[in-house]
Amino acid sequence: MQPFGAVAAVDSACRRVHSVSANLGALLDISLPEPDKLSLSCLLGKRLSQRLRRAMQGRENLPAPLTFVRQTHGRNERYQIHALRSGSQVLVEIEPLQALGKWRLLGAVNERLMKLADATHQEELLDNLVGSIQELTGYDRVVVCHFDSDWHGLILAEALGGRLPTILGQRFPASEFPVALRHAYERNPIRYIQDLEAPSVGFLPKSAAPSLEDSLLRAPAPDRVRYLQNLNVHGSLSLAMQGDAGLWGMVVCHAATPYPTPPPVRDAVRALVQMATQRLLLLRARQEARYLQRVQDSLVLSSTDRKEPQSPEQLLSAQAEIWMELFRAHGVALWIGGNSYLAGNSPAPTVINQLVKRLTRTHDHSGPWCSRELAKNPLTSSLTMDKQCGLLAVPLPFSPDERGWLLFFRPQQVETLYWAMQPSPNHPSPNQPSVLTLPSPSTAWYEEVVGKSEAWQRVERLAAVDLGEDLTLAISAYEISKLNGYLEQERKALAEANQRLEQLAHFDPLTQVWNRYRIEQAIDAELVAAKRYGAHFGLLLFDVDHFKEINDTHGHALGDDVLVALARMVEGSLRGCDHLGRWGGEEFIVLAKHADLEALIGLAERLRELVTMLSVDGLSKPLTVSIGVAAWQPDDSCKSMVARADEAMYRAKHGGRNRVEVAAREVL
Ligand code: GH3
Ligand code: MG
Ligand code: MG
Repeated sequence: MQPFGAVAAVDSACRRVHSVSANLGALLDISLPEPDKLSLSCLLGKRLSQRLRRAMQGRENLPAPLTFVRQTHGRNERYQIHALRSGSQVLVEIEPLQALGKWRLLGAVNERLMKLADATHQEELLDNLVGSIQELTGYDRVVVCHFDSDWHGLILAEALGGRLPTILGQRFPASEFPVALRHAYERNPIRYIQDLEAPSVGFLPKSAAPSLEDSLLRAPAPDRVRYLQNLNVHGSLSLAMQGDAGLWGMVVCHAATPYPTPPPVRDAVRALVQMATQRLLLLRARQEARYLQRVQDSLVLSSTDRKEPQSPEQLLSAQAEIWMELFRAHGVALWIGGNSYLAGNSPAPTVINQLVKRLTRTHDHSGPWCSRELAKNPLTSSLTMDKQCGLLAVPLPFSPDERGWLLFFRPQQVETLYWAMQPSPNHPSPNQPSVLTLPSPSTAWYEEVVGKSEAWQRVERLAAVDLGEDLTLAISAYEISKLNGYLEQERKALAEANQRLEQLAHFDPLTQVWNRYRIEQAIDAELVAAKRYGAHFGLLLFDVDHFKEINDTHGHALGDDVLVALARMVEGSLRGCDHLGRWGGEEFIVLAKHADLEALIGLAERLRELVTMLSVDGLSKPLTVSIGVAAWQPDDSCKSMVARADEAMYRAKHGGRNRVEVAAREVL
């Protein structure tokens, strides 16, 4: 145990004393009775020991130190008491308090706390912190050491007092910070060595010496002593900086000579470190939040620019640059449904396919997969990715059994690391709790790290997952709109087909007038109306005269032209309520509504005459038709009406053609 204070180990109820450090009597200027007759009130007096008992009830540590004054060595001395539980015992630490300008100290600390609270960047904050602590304590070297994900320490900030050399920017191997040491810092964030070489104090009785694991007074282990001697350090004070995910780093104060640091000064340093740690976490959280926001905005901004959802190609070509910048990547790829979309420095599509196959097989959870040493990773070492050294892969959960991938690639980053000491070969695992290594004297040693990309930061992995989720939504929206487009096309095609069918079903393909089926329907409908309302109507059946001759003389094509011209002309001359239909070959029927026999004959004559005036290119003789007229009679059917019109038409043929004849029964 270090001699700058004394310890009494008492029972958990803080009454019986089990053992005391050998210097306790001298420190308090009392002669100690036999340990088995000792009680805490003998040592501290009744009132003080009662206060201590009350304060320790149900607690691991005293929330704040107690102070007391006692006449020792003929004058009033002030002492500070701290207590902590260690196993089934309570360790009561007693330390003399030198007179100190308490108010001056408080003022100085307040001023420095305010300065820390104003810092807006990590660098400024840490420089401020080490500067303040150095000024306040006078240590020869005050540094902030930050742990990376492998527990190597890097000296990020330093303030020097003159007697020790700089170690700024140097790295300390993880073997210097074994797990046991890190856990000790979690329980008790302060370690203090006043005088490295001070002779250790023992306990009375020796057999009852307590474990001083977490006590501030614990003497450094012999390894640690040699280690610090090698660094030319004879007094030190170190404090943990506890992050939200474990130990973030440490503040370490070194002195070239033994260096007493009174309790209030240590408390002040602790307050500064706590404040700086809080501020640091806040600054980092803000920085991370800003970064996450930028990543989110990158997709949202691009999609609000356009109304239509964008395809993976469009998304990538619009966003690849900004994503590569945000993720410090030199290539980005999307793999969706067997297709890869690439930007920047990405491997060939065939390599991406293999990569995705392996990822899909081995990586079945929804989190990202990353590596900064693709050539060494069993999953990727056999793939040809010469230009890529790091990969961050995020699954895109389109559906439970169909995942896409968002892939970021990083190039190799050659890095020179300056080590304060070479990691010991005896420490294959940085987490192995074993003896501290003895460094070679503090000559720095440097190392070129090749074959690695920059590491993927936690916040980058988080941001990539966010981006992956947003991308999944954006691409799904695109797929849905594409499917809707297909459906719309199908619907249109179907409507067109229906229209074509309708046309085929009701219209004559050559002349585009109603076909026989449709005109029969119309006649049937008119028969119903005539029966019900007595509305008169009639049919004109006409046939082109000597049509065969036209075909024979001018060819079938001209025959067709004649039929088309004839139908168009007749249809154009009819009233809106009358209809023309092709009955077959060169025979047509006009359905004339609201017409009696006289009107029908008038219409027939008018049409006959019109036809004679029809001119068709290439036709040498005038065209004529023979027309049979049938007016509706009660009990008529479509068949009987057409038959009567047909009979009249034949009479017109026989009568010399180009004439109108009325169906026989009407004449009678
Ligand atoms: P008629 O004065 O007695 O009616 O003599 P015609 O030659 O008109 O009578 P016929 O029934 O002997 O001839 C009708 C011809 O019409 C026979 C057929 O080849 C022709 N024809 C029928 N439909 C079409 C068609 O769609 N286009 C063409 N170009 N000819 C057709
Ligand atoms: Mg004919
Ligand atoms: Mg005919």
